[in-house]
Amino acid sequence: MTNHEIWQSVLAEFEINISKANFTTWFSSTGISHYDAGHVIVCVPNAFAKNWLEKKYHSTLTKSLERVTQKPVKKVEYKVQSIKTVEEKEAIFSKKIEDSSLSHSIRTHRLPSPPNKYGINPSYTFESFVVGKTNELAHAAAQAVAKRPGESYNPLFIYGGVGLGKTHLLQAIAHEMLGVDTNLRVLYVSSEKFTNEFIDAVKQGHAKEFKTRYRNVDLFLMDDIQFIAGKEGTQEEFFHTFNELHQNNKQVVLTSDRPPKSIPALEERLRSRFEWGMLVDVSAPDLETRSAILQMKAQQRNFFLPEDIANLIASSVSSNIRELEGALNKIIAIHDLKKTEPTMESVREILANITAQPMKRSVTPKEVISTVIRYFDVGLIEILGKSREKKLSFPRQIIMFLLREELKLSYPAIGGELGGRDHTTAMHAHTKISTHAENDVKLKQDLVSIKQQLYLESMDN
Ligand code: ADP
Ligand code: MG
Repeated sequence: MTNHEIWQSVLAEFEINISKANFTTWFSSTGISHYDAGHVIVCVPNAFAKNWLEKKYHSTLTKSLERVTQKPVKKVEYKVQSIKTVEEKEAIFSKKIEDSSLSHSIRTHRLPSPPNKYGINPSYTFESFVVGKTNELAHAAAQAVAKRPGESYNPLFIYGGVGLGKTHLLQAIAHEMLGVDTNLRVLYVSSEKFTNEFIDAVKQGHAKEFKTRYRNVDLFLMDDIQFIAGKEGTQEEFFHTFNELHQNNKQVVLTSDRPPKSIPALEERLRSRFEWGMLVDVSAPDLETRSAILQMKAQQRNFFLPEDIANLIASSVSSNIRELEGALNKIIAIHDLKKTEPTMESVREILANITAQPMKRSVTPKEVISTVIRYFDVGLIEILGKSREKKLSFPRQIIMFLLREELKLSYPAIGGELGGRDHTTAMHAHTKISTHAENDVKLKQDLVSIKQQLYLESMDN
C-alpha cells in the first residue's frame, strides 16, 4: 500500500463517521507524508487543522491507521505541510527527474499573511471556509477560477445576502493565486471605493492614472457591485475597465447582494456582461454547517469549543454568519474574563441574554422605508406620492408588507406612514406580497436581503 492508499482508506472511514461539513473542514488537503515502522506523519494544510486533529481525532485516527495497515502504529505526528508538495516531490524523485524548471513550478509553501497592500483579510482563505450545501457551488466556482484564472468562468459573479461569505470567497481567490505567484497584480476594491476614487480622480484631473491603475491588473475583485447601480459615470468607467480586462483574459470576480437582473438602475450592457460568465449564489447555511463554521472560528482564536456547545450556539443563532460570529465573540470574551471553560449552562445563559433582546424591536417604520427605497433605488417623495408606476408601486407594497409583518403595525397606521393611504390599500399590498412570495423566488430573495439589511443596520446604530 502506498501512503496515498493508506490515507484514502483512513479518510473513507472518517467520511462515514463524521458530518460532511466537519469532514471537509478538517480533512481536505490532508495526507500522509511519512510512514515507517509505526511512525506516521500526517500533513495538514494549517495550524487549525493540526490542533483539531490532535485534540479531537487523534485516537480514532490512530486506530483507523492500525486497522487499515494491519500493523501497530507507535506514533502519529501532525505537520503543517502541503500534501500536494509532498506527493509532487515523491513523483519527481521516483522518476529521477532533475529538471530544475519543473521543481520551480511546484508550490513549496503557502505564503503567510499576504501583504496588506491588497487590503485583504489574511484569514479569509479557502482553508478557513467551511463548505456546506448552500455555498458549495460558489466555493467550487471560486476555486476553479483561482486555479485557471481567465479560463473557466469570466466573470464569476457571486451573489447572496449579508454575512454569508461572499467577501470571504472573493478574498480567498486572491490568497490562493498570490500563493502561486507573489508577483501577481491583484486588485480588490469595493464598488463604493471604486466610485469614490473615480469621482476624485476626475475632479483632480487624474482620470488617466485611474484608468491605468485599474486596467493593468491580473485579477480584479470587486465587492458589492450593487452600489454602482444608478451612478452613470462610474458604470461607464467600470464598463470599459471590465472590457479591457476581459479582452486580455484577466479574471474578474464580482459580488453582489442579489443577481444582476434584480439590481435596479444597472445599465443593460453591464447586466448582460455579468451574465456572460458564471452566476452562483450563497444562501444561509444549515445547522450542521453553522456549527462547523463556529468550530473553525473558535479554532482560529485558539478557543476550544466542544461540538455540543457549537451546536447549541448554531441552533440559537440562525440568520447569518456575522451574527453567529458575534455570539461566539461574546462567549469567548465572557469566558476569558472569568477565566473559565465554556459549559452548556454558561453558554446557554449568555445566549439567553443575546436573544432576549430581539433586534426587531429597534427597527422603526422610517428605517423600513429607507432600507426598501435604497434597495430599489427609488426616491422617498415618489414612494410617498401618488404615482402608480410599477417601479414605485412594487417597493411601496413591499414596505407595507414589511411594516405589517415585521413591525406589526395596524393597516391604518401603515397607510399613514405611506403618505396617508387608505387602510384597504395596505391590506391589499400585504395580501399580494404574501401570496406572491410563496412561489416567486426572486421576491423571496428580495425580502431576505431587505430584512438582512434592515436588521444589520439597526444593530450598528
Ligand atoms: P458577505 O460578504 O457575504 O456579507 P462575509 O464574507 O463578510 O459575508 O462573511 C461574514 C463572516 O462570516 C466572515 O467572518 C466570514 O469569514 C464568515 N463566513 C461566512 N461564510 C463562511 C464559511 N462558509 N466558512 C467560514 N466562515 C464563513
Ligand atoms: Mg461582503
